[in-house]
Amino acid sequence: MQLNNLENFVVPIIATPFLKPLINNLDRECSKDGNLLLNSLKVFLGAPVSLCPTCRHISQKIAKPFYELGSRFLHADKNFMQSQFLNSEYGEAWIRGFGLMMKGIKKYGIRIPFIPSAPFEVVWNFTYQCNLRCKHCYENAGNTKQEELSTEEAKKVLDILSNISGIGLPALSFSGGEPLIRKDFFEIATYAKKRIGYVSVASNGTLITKDKAKKIKDAGINYVEISIDGATPKVHNEFRGVPKAFEKAMEGVKNCIEEGIDTCIATVLHRDNITELEKLIALSKRLDVRFMHFNYIPTGRAKAFVELDLTPEERLHVLETIGEEIIKLYLKTKRESRSGNSNVKVDKFFSTCPQYACVTKELSQKFGEKFMVEAHYAAKKGVENIANFLGGCGAGRLYCCLEPNGDIKPCVFFPTNQETGLGNILRDDFEEIWDTHPFLWKLRVRENLENYIVNGKHVGCGICSDKYICGGCRARAYSYFSGNVNAPDIGCIHNKSLWEKIIMKK
Ligand code: SF4
Ligand code: SF4
Repeated sequence: MQLNNLENFVVPIIATPFLKPLINNLDRECSKDGNLLLNSLKVFLGAPVSLCPTCRHISQKIAKPFYELGSRFLHADKNFMQSQFLNSEYGEAWIRGFGLMMKGIKKYGIRIPFIPSAPFEVVWNFTYQCNLRCKHCYENAGNTKQEELSTEEAKKVLDILSNISGIGLPALSFSGGEPLIRKDFFEIATYAKKRIGYVSVASNGTLITKDKAKKIKDAGINYVEISIDGATPKVHNEFRGVPKAFEKAMEGVKNCIEEGIDTCIATVLHRDNITELEKLIALSKRLDVRFMHFNYIPTGRAKAFVELDLTPEERLHVLETIGEEIIKLYLKTKRESRSGNSNVKVDKFFSTCPQYACVTKELSQKFGEKFMVEAHYAAKKGVENIANFLGGCGAGRLYCCLEPNGDIKPCVFFPTNQETGLGNILRDDFEEIWDTHPFLWKLRVRENLENYIVNGKHVGCGICSDKYICGGCRARAYSYFSGNVNAPDIGCIHNKSLWEKIIMKK
């Protein structure tokens, strides 16, 4: 159910007064059973949950009809929900995400895109240290002596996250710098996995020996993303600034695969490696791992290499190329499902570009299909039905970032300054920041998006009909428009005239 702009306005006004008191009734802590919101969902999905008489009564008489109605309204497939929420390794994360969504509606009303009561995912830049010197590093990481949290402080952070908004964080991703460089990485990752639904790590791969891959597996880390800039050593090593980086990173990929870890190769595509795209896709297919395209965002060290940014046409080419791959998988699984069960995994080709939703939507329409991949998200069946609720760019809304010293930012790709530094997770109240910080609210409301006039025509994300499924990359807007977070994303094909005016000085 993708709503049009009028419905986007009307549905929240009608539904919010009805939903808020209903969720209020369900959002209670039972001293015996725990959170009723989460338990009632499990009961609805058929999980064997034993509840006290009061919780059972509310689950059956109030929650069940409500969830039934909601899932029909959103065209959510109950079998799919059962398989994801109860039987998959994402289950705990999905259930917590549901709880945060409901609490978000209770707190802030229905909004499009919606705002959960706490982020679904936190990316934790675990250290400023790194053994490589990549040109595009958003963190400007290296052999730095900047202040970082101690092991005990890092555990305190995880204690806070594990109870966030009374539900707990669904997903945590360790990033950096290079997270594996910290000696306490495995101690902290193991501690995290006991408290957070889904834990992943983004690494340059060079330190993932066979022994480390086994430790990653033993820590219970669900997913490893390894940066590879080209399909051959030359491109990768030149960009990473260290010889043999490619060979070591590929060893890391292979070691993770051998351990049976869900593995992804991730590539920041720019003007010097765009010709590697097809080869990287072939490499990911050959290794049977996922492929993630990272958007080039001129921030951190990448700010000095702004000329590497792709043009809107080049970015569109990238998105169409990977979009075609994922749509082929989607069509294949659909065909196979008609004649039985399909084992084809669709969620293999991703992009952090929010425009990926628009591109996959249009491409799928050519096949008479309605399929869409939300930026940063897995291509799950049913996501297209709630695409405008999920809303593309999730900075400061579905996700946020922690710095190695515990500072909170809306997204890793924002520079650190007085405006973007929202507070510190150990010193400040995270939930108060999430509820009230003016910079977050500036970011979250799509009606704030701006337009510019180029050659007498309005251009920008503000007038775009796809702003509720995309919204443009807010970090790119912030970078190109000197701190204006609501400016257009000039990397989008719809904003090409603005790109030409600003970059090409046409
Ligand atoms: S104009 Fe903005 S909102 Fe529309 S598709 Fe492009 S980046 Fe997204
Ligand atoms: S600002 Fe939004 S689209 Fe850009 S990288 Fe961050 S979350 Fe993704």
